[in-house]
Formats: sequence, structure tokens, C-alpha cells
Amino acid sequence: MRRPVVTAFVGLGANLGDAVQAVQSALVDLAQVPGIRALRASNLYRSAPVDATGPDFINAVAEVRTTLSAPNLLAALQNLELAAGRQRPYRNAPRTLDLDLLLYGQAQMDSPHLTLPHPRWLERAFVLCPLQELAPQLVRADMLAAVADQAVERMQLKAPSAP
Ligand code: AMP
Repeated sequence: MRRPVVTAFVGLGANLGDAVQAVQSALVDLAQVPGIRALRASNLYRSAPVDATGPDFINAVAEVRTTLSAPNLLAALQNLELAAGRQRPYRNAPRTLDLDLLLYGQAQMDSPHLTLPHPRWLERAFVLCPLQELAPQLVRADMLAAVADQAVERMQLKAPSAP
């Protein structure tokens, strides 16, 4: 049976090594995952670490149109994290690449491995600002006002979008 095409949003972040390069190549790799039909990327953003240590983060959000189920999409994201050499020596350690499944269509779920929407998407300016570029209807002014104290800087950098 054919799976429906679902619009999902993925948050990307990196703060080790060449973080711009890590996020840009993750966007290119994500667009090539089997089952991802199309990808649109926000600009890149620079943000100070929230609940984490180390240098500033580089962040972006990608909108994907996918036939993957939410658990399979999460598994694909975790494979990309592993391929980027992410290690988890301790909670919120600096990371080469962090990929979060923010929204998967209208899905709401809370399983041991996957919570949707992502439990912290509303708490983070580095999620809401790039998400607003791609899907302004999802980000209301009051949501942005709630994270206005978090410094994020929009960079003039964008990854190439897949066809
Ligand atoms: P993190 O260290 O922030 O990358 O968290 C990864 C852990 O969060 C993994 O064990 C995932 O199974 C779990 N998780 C739960 N919901 C989500 C989600 N929506 N996106 C990404 N990871 C999730």
C-alpha cells in the first residue's frame, strides 16, 4: 500500500568543529534520504547555547515532504547524526550534529522514543525563527514573544534546496 506524503519539520543544530559545514551537509544528506521527496531549508541562524555548553550553535529548520513514517524518519535522522560522528558523553554535551523531529503533519504522540510535536519546540528561538521562514502560519507572534530574550542571529547562508 502506498504511504501518504506528509509534511514534516526537522530542526538542525551543531556547535563543534565547522558547524556551518555540518548543518549544510546535513541538509544535503537529508534531501537524499530514500522516502524524502522534497526539502526546503531555512537560512542558517547562530544562537547561544541553551541548556548546553560550548561554542555558539548553528541552526536551521528543514521542511520535508516524506513517505516515511514518523519513527522511520526519526531513525533516518539518527543515522545522519551517527554518520556525522556525534557522541553522547553526557546529557546536552556539545554536538557535531543534532537533528530533532519537530512536527510530523498533525501527529501527536508520546512513545518512549518519539514525542510529537517535539517537547521543546515552543521554548526555543532557534527553532521558531527559522520555522517561521518556512511556515509562517505555524508560528504566531505570541510564540515568538515568549522566546524574545534568546539571542539568535539570522545568517546570510542557506543550503541548496533539493528539487
Ligand atoms: P537529543 O539528545 O536531544 O538528540 O535527544 C535524542 C533522544 O530524544 C532520542 O532518544 C530520541 O528517541 C528522543 N526523542 C523523542 N522525541 C523526539 C523528537 N521529536 N525528535 C528527536 N528525538 C526525539
